[in-house]
Amino acid sequence: MRILIIEDDPAIAANLYDFLEAQGHVVDAAADGVTGLHLAVTGQFDAIVLDLGLPGMDGVTVCRKLRDDAHDDTPVLMLTARDTLDDKLEGFARGADDYLVKPFALKEVEARLTALHKRRAGRVTSRALAAGDLTFDPASLTTCFRGKDVRLPPKCIRLLQVLMTQPNRVFSRQELETEVWGQEQETSDTLRSHMHVLRRELAQAGGYDPIENVHGLGYRLVPRGGD
Ligand code: CA
Repeated sequence: MRILIIEDDPAIAANLYDFLEAQGHVVDAAADGVTGLHLAVTGQFDAIVLDLGLPGMDGVTVCRKLRDDAHDDTPVLMLTARDTLDDKLEGFARGADDYLVKPFALKEVEARLTALHKRRAGRVTSRALAAGDLTFDPASLTTCFRGKDVRLPPKCIRLLQVLMTQPNRVFSRQELETEVWGQEQETSDTLRSHMHVLRRELAQAGGYDPIENVHGLGYRLVPRGGD
């Protein structure tokens, strides 16, 4: 996952950063609300760890602006001190998805973030998607590429859906494996073979392969055209 930490306490921020990075996540961090909000809006994160008490702009305001002004639904895990527990209610009202009271176990943070991310991925699955000359209809599980229906195995459909949520963004292999196979820990050959089938079927239907292998980084969808 790509995770943003917005926390002004340097020790807590460093602990979170080091732990999450060691677990294989891509982590970015901000020490105040204004910087954090800017990163949240301009970057592409799967989850945000947001401290309630921040200098400048507090966590509740960051969350409200993220949801109401930027229309960004990235899952937010709010961190609150025990003596401000009442604030958590306000935090939820402003769009936080979950909260943890300090002090917390680092493993617990990761577990909550993973749960939030999965819940969001589930919502994505049931959404109609369009990217350039590709569309996906969740009701009929139909993929349409350059006006032609493409018949795909379920895991290939899921793979394409993930790529379609953010066209042009590079998804790492690990990220795609987690999104499609969850905790089943498939081998990288599984991803490779499904990716092969997906790209072959798309190229056959539409005349070109819209998926790029970005060497050493992963894959991205680069669809042409648009509506
Ligand atoms: Ca703080």
